[in-house]
Amino acid sequence: MRAVMERAVEECIAHVTTGGLPFVGVVVDQGGVVSEFGVNRVHETGDPSAHAEIVAMRDAMVSHGIQSLAGTALLATGEPCGLCYRFAIDHRVDAIHVAVDRDAVADFGFDYRGSYPALEITDELRAGLLRHLPVERGAEPFTRYLHNYTLHGR
Ligand SMILES: [Zn+2]
Repeated sequence: MRAVMERAVEECIAHVTTGGLPFVGVVVDQGGVVSEFGVNRVHETGDPSAHAEIVAMRDAMVSHGIQSLAGTALLATGEPCGLCYRFAIDHRVDAIHVAVDRDAVADFGFDYRGSYPALEITDELRAGLLRHLPVERGAEPFTRYLHNYTLHGR
């Protein structure tokens, strides 16, 4: 699990380097990785729900021809927003492992904590799913993103 998160963070750093957002999601089961390393595709697809984590969960379902993600876990480099929690819950994901939680992500300038009550993600629901999986370079996608932003005004 930790090795997959380390890989997700590496993928995320690479994505930020090419101008992307500092979020990657990936789905695993007992046997290993079962989705792509999803990145945010809202801008290129025009789909407002194409968050990194939902991209990964949809890929796991489409590529395996399944409707349920029971028996899988979602790994996310930054804690998912309320929309992604709702998608994970509706598709029966067992657990959500995060390298950086929502409060730390907010400190990096991405404060979507208001999305949880809007999607009825209670503290109890969140606590039942959330697992902290810190890795050494976990903050780096965010610090690199902020560095780019400061340099180029994006
Ligand atoms: Zn999201």
